[in-house]
Order: sequence, then structure tokens, then C-alpha cells
Amino acid sequence: MYDYQAPEQLLKDRVILVTGAGDGIGRAAAKAYAAAGATVVLLGRTLEKLEQVYDEIEAAGHPQPALVPLNLESASEHDYQELAAKLETEFGRLDGLLNNASILGLRTPIDGYDASTWQQVMQINVNGAFLLTQAMLPLLKESDDASVIFTSSGVGRKGRAYWGAYAVSKFATEGLMQVLADEVDGISNIRVNSINPGATRTNMRTTAYPGEPPTTNPTPDDIMPLYLFLMGPDSKGTQGQSLDAQ
Ligand code: NAP
Repeated sequence: MYDYQAPEQLLKDRVILVTGAGDGIGRAAAKAYAAAGATVVLLGRTLEKLEQVYDEIEAAGHPQPALVPLNLESASEHDYQELAAKLETEFGRLDGLLNNASILGLRTPIDGYDASTWQQVMQINVNGAFLLTQAMLPLLKESDDASVIFTSSGVGRKGRAYWGAYAVSKFATEGLMQVLADEVDGISNIRVNSINPGATRTNMRTTAYPGEPPTTNPTPDDIMPLYLFLMGPDSKGTQGQSLDAQ
């Protein structure tokens, strides 16, 4: 596991947006960021799941989060602009963005991969993250220490049979991260990096490996040290890196 112990209140007074915050790794990250003092903006497509995370954060006495039910598959450029305007009005700032939401799509050969599923995977995993990040950049540029994290995968660095659009979307994610990191480097206070969580105990992992005993892999909470390190000030100067959470 990535070796980092976050100081208390690491993210005090920061506003951090997490996508896919209702389940799995995004849920753990939202709660870890809130526990570190951040006001977390919970974005996801299933309102009930977001509400549950909201309630858990409130019950723990952490800063009151914000709820943003939004489907990255159907959201328009206008929706993202509207969200940026709302964050500006409500908080006047944004210091971090964790692009975490993704879908797995099909695990079948390219020869025969369903074209509409291909487009759906690319829309959520790549286009949605691009549009959201682009809309948030003006706010992030105003922060004196901002961090953008993209979520990759082992199959986003080395292609593997039957991983189809998911693998290709993760290669694209690494590309987007590198291009943006190079563009903001030296001219802003924004750092841009990606995390490969590694095999982690979530619904996505169970769908990809239905025969695997769930306890084989670390939980989302176990992999939070790297998520905290990259979101907080201790990672200042880390730019354009593809890092492994395990
Ligand atoms: P997960 O348990 O399936 O959670 C994914 C989250 O993304 C869910 O909250 C889901 O919402 C949300 N989401 C999916 N489609 C969305 C959409 N169209 N609009 C808004 N939100 C959407 O997956 P996970 O394992 O935590 O994965 C998190 C990230 O880590 C992903 O980028 C994944 O590719 C990456 N990753 C995971 C593993 C692993 O072993 N788990 C390994 C490598 C990389 P709902 O809850 O409403 O479905």
C-alpha cells in the first residue's frame, strides 16, 4: 500500500469535487477527504447512494457536503457550466477534483464488441471527465493549491485481451492527464496526476472477476493514503505522474 500518513485536517477549508461518490472507491475518497476537513461535493448518478454518503459525513461531524446528482453519460456542456457557476456562488472556490466515476462495459473481444456500449464507456469514462474538468478549470486556477486526479487502471497502461473500451478509455485518461499536466505546469497552481487503484474490493471488481473471493483484495479505505497525498499540499510539485495506490 502507498506509504503516507495524512496529518490531521490535511484538507481543512478546501472544497473538493468527487465523481462517482456514491459507491466504491469514490465513496471512500469522499469520506476520507471530509474526515480530513474538506467540504466535499458529491457527484454521482444515483441520488439515494449520494444521500447515504452525505448522511454518513454529517453524522461523523465533518464539514457539510454538497450533493450533485448528475449522469456523466447524458450531461451536457451546459450542465457542467451550470455546476461551475453553482460552486462559485455557493463556495467561491474549488481546490480539488477527483475524476473517479467509470463503467466497465463489456469484457469481450474487439471483434464483436457492441458499438453502442463502446460509445457509452467512452462517454462516461473519457468525455464526461474531459467536459467536467474543462468546466472546473477556471475555478481551480483561482485556488492557490489545486489538485486534479484522474483514475486509471493497469489495463490503461498495458492493453489486455477482452478489456475492450474500458482499457482504451483508461489509455485516453492517461493521455488527457498528461496533456493537461503539461499545459498547466509552471503557469498555475494546479497539479494533475493519475492513480491506478489496483485490484480493490468494489462492485466493479466483482463484476470483472465474479469467481474471485471478495476478501482477496484490499478495501477502498485501505488504498486512501495515495488519494489523500495527491489531494493535499504534501504533493505540491508532483505533476503528470501515473501513480499506483497499491
Ligand atoms: P464502482 O464501485 O462501480 O463505482 C463507480 C462509481 O461511479 C459508482 O458510484 C457509480 O454510480 C459511478 N458512475 C458510474 N457511471 C456513472 C455515470 N454515468 N455518471 C455518474 N456516476 C457514474 O467502481 P470502483 O471500483 O469504485 O471504481 C472507481 C474507479 O477506479 C473507476 O474509475 C475504475 O475504473 C477504477 N478502478 C477500479 C479498480 C477496482 O479493482 N475496483 C481497479 C482499477 C481501476 P452508481 O453507484 O450510481 O452506479
